Amino acid sequence: MRMTHAFIPTRKEAPSDEEVMSHIYMQRGGYIRWIASGVYSFLPLGYRVIRKIEQIIREEMDNAGCQEVLLPTVLPGSLWKESGRWDHYGKELLRFTDRKGTEYCLGPTHEEAIVSIVRDEIKSYRDLPLNLYQIQGKFRDELRPRAGLMRGREFLMKDAYSFDVSSESAKETYEAMRNAYQKIFKRCGLSFSIVLADSGAIGGSLSHEFHVLAQSGEDTLVSCSECHYAANVETAEIDNTESTENVTCSPEDLRKETVVSKPSENSLSKHIKTLLYHADDELIAVLIRGDHDVNDVALKDILNVASLSVAQPSVLKKTMELSLDDVGPIGLEIPMVADRALRDAHGMIAGANESNQQYCGISIDRDITTIRTWGNIRCAAHGDRCGHCKQGTFSTTRGIEVGHTFFLGTKYSQPMKCQFLNEEGKSAPVVMGCYGIGITRIAAAAIEQNHDEHGICWPLPIAPYQVALLSLQPNDDEVKATADRIYQDLEARGIEILYDDRKERPGVKFKDADLIGIPIRITVGRRTLDNGQVEFKHRTDKESCLIAQSDIITFVERSLETLRNNS
Ligand code: ATP
Ligand code: MG
Repeated sequence: MRMTHAFIPTRKEAPSDEEVMSHIYMQRGGYIRWIASGVYSFLPLGYRVIRKIEQIIREEMDNAGCQEVLLPTVLPGSLWKESGRWDHYGKELLRFTDRKGTEYCLGPTHEEAIVSIVRDEIKSYRDLPLNLYQIQGKFRDELRPRAGLMRGREFLMKDAYSFDVSSESAKETYEAMRNAYQKIFKRCGLSFSIVLADSGAIGGSLSHEFHVLAQSGEDTLVSCSECHYAANVETAEIDNTESTENVTCSPEDLRKETVVSKPSENSLSKHIKTLLYHADDELIAVLIRGDHDVNDVALKDILNVASLSVAQPSVLKKTMELSLDDVGPIGLEIPMVADRALRDAHGMIAGANESNQQYCGISIDRDITTIRTWGNIRCAAHGDRCGHCKQGTFSTTRGIEVGHTFFLGTKYSQPMKCQFLNEEGKSAPVVMGCYGIGITRIAAAAIEQNHDEHGICWPLPIAPYQVALLSLQPNDDEVKATADRIYQDLEARGIEILYDDRKERPGVKFKDADLIGIPIRITVGRRTLDNGQVEFKHRTDKESCLIAQSDIITFVERSLETLRNNS
């Protein structure tokens, strides 16, 4: 593709108030454009990346014996009522009515839709197993769309659904899909990790997440130093056999003090954080150690509520400005849930429900007698003992969830009556699995993992082009003729090449090439051409090297081969 013919509107400035590099570079590099909150258009470069990711996914899904379908985006509310999710999915489900008053939603995921088809078509065990997938736009009205493609409201997903006759064969299917997923992320050239996960709104009993490892990831993952256990902190089993940490110091007197400074990072474990939540219709307080984070999934489980949302300190005293640090358990007359790590703790510090005042010397069992529930309601953290082997300790990394597999069992087939006749002629519900990959999120995650201060450094398999060719003096006949010839020769060999033949200054071309991030760059310029040479550089190399003009085609072919073998 010649840049003079291409629609690649690069920009010098980053979008205002945006901090995530993938979003900045995709906007600046002319890959995507914002159109509404969490909704983006793909320009030619961006769409090439998406199509490459899709292609890899299609090949691996087909290899794993899945068949591609395409379901509608608009789904009838009646289907969602059958599964019970019309009432439980919450506000992420965008609902609307048509002119006749019939209820619809935009599909955020398609279990209901696929089950409604399959249940009408399968009769006996001979029709199974079946594994269907689609690549389609999903819509979720996310509370906080952020970071561009990372958490959009409209995004592309590959979703697959498997139907088996028994749990055993469904588990085999699940394993096959897990293998296919590994191949997909490897082929995309990404460094990733597979962890045990919570099954969330989709439901089911077993679930794994696939994370692209990147410092900017929203999720925290733990892995054990001794066994192979790896999990999302929301799910990770912590060994809670009593640590002596809390009881080593002896009780002190309870006293109220004025807060003089913010607690240091090291002293956080002596603080009690008191967080307020609306749990269904009740206001509750959650007590957790200052250095720990609440695990919303576990909290919701323990409370057995459908909705859980954070409440502001202002609900306590309308007359007084309270910050989160001012809130504390002593004298607080609402139901309390406390994390087990606080059990028997002495000498603790907490807010006094007055501006800038705190209680010190708190002994939990002496001073807080109104705790209704104790439970493991915190996320695992760095240094916790592994609950799986009870030997090792956890270390943490950050990840971006790009794929999720769920063993569903009969969660949908039972209520939606998706049944078949087994070998004994008896009717039984099919056993299902579902498997998602965030295609647009992969594009963003790949950049989070592969960039520098100048722009994107695409892994070859998903780069929009393989080679960037820069002609530095397009008005110089010999430079132009040489660059044109290299362009034609590479194209003839099936190499995807973006040829910067614009009448721009060399500086502009180098900057754009770095920003766009194509893995290999060839530069044709007057100075090196006098010696019969052109410049060659990998996007990730610091320096370029000089190659004889006559050797450049073979050199590029060999370099591409090496890149392919290394990924
Ligand atoms: P998250 O915890 O990030 O909200 P999820 O558990 O809701 O993800 P799934 O329902 O498992 O996600 O969806 C399958 C895949 O779709 C995810 O692994 C992710 O890659 C992608 N995905 C989910 N929500 C979004 C979003 N808002 N924007 C982009 N991709 C998304
Ligand atoms: Mg979600």
